[in-house]
Amino acid sequence: MTEHDSVAALNEVRAGISRAASDYERDPASITLVAVSKLFPPQEIEPVLAAGQRVFGENYVQEANAKWPGLRQRYPDVELHLIGPLQSNKAKEAVALFDVIETLDRPSLAEALAKEIAKQGKAPRLLVQVNTGEEPQKGGLMPSELDGFLDRCRSLGLTVEGLMCIPPAEDPPSPHFALLNAMAAKHDLKTLSMGMSADYDPAIQLGATHVRVGSAIFGMRATKG
Ligand SMILES: *Cc1c(COP(=O)(O)O)cnc(C)c1O
Repeated sequence: MTEHDSVAALNEVRAGISRAASDYERDPASITLVAVSKLFPPQEIEPVLAAGQRVFGENYVQEANAKWPGLRQRYPDVELHLIGPLQSNKAKEAVALFDVIETLDRPSLAEALAKEIAKQGKAPRLLVQVNTGEEPQKGGLMPSELDGFLDRCRSLGLTVEGLMCIPPAEDPPSPHFALLNAMAAKHDLKTLSMGMSADYDPAIQLGATHVRVGSAIFGMRATKG
C-alpha cells in the first residue's frame, strides 16, 4: 500500500487557496487554512506541522486533549480550533485547550464559557455556529436567533469574532455561504469560517476568512466509534 503523502496534499490545498484568492481578487493573507486533524494520531499530524502548518481544527475535546499538549511542546505556536459540538460540562477543558471555539451555539454554553473565561483568565476567540440549513440534527443557532443571541453574549461579556457554518451535505453550499456572509456583515463580524475539502473554493469566493480542510490534507478518516 502506498502511504498517503499529507505534505504533498497540504501543498496542493495551499495552492488551491492561492488560486481561489487570485480568481476572486481576495488577499491570500486574509484566508487562514484550518487543517482538520480529527481522528488522526500525532504521528500523522507531525509531518504537517514540520511543513509549517500551524492552525489546526479538532472536533472532540477529549481526543484533542490527548493529542495536542504533547505536540505543543515541540510546536508552541500552534493555534487550535474547536470545530465540533461542545457540551457545557466540557467548557472548562475547552477554554484551557483551544485558542478558538467555533461552535458557540446556545445560551447555556455561552454562560458556561463566560464563567470559565473569568475563572481561568484566558479567553479563546469565539465564533457562533449558525445552522444555515435549519437541520434539526445539527448544531448551530437558527438564523432567526442570531440577533438575540449576540445580545446575550455581549451581556455576558463575551466578544464574538465571527460566524461558522456547515451547509447540509445534500445542498449546493454557495447559498449557505452567502447567507452567513450577509449575517456577518449585518453585525459587523470579521471572521467567517466556512468551506471544507469539497467546497473551499466557493467559500473563498463568498468571503471565507477560515476554511476547514481535513480529508484533502490527511486522507480518508477512520469513522469514530
Ligand atoms: C470534519 C470537519 C471538517 C473537515 O471536513 P473535510 O471534508 O474532511 O475537509 C470541517 N469542518 C467540520 C465542522 C468538520 O467536522
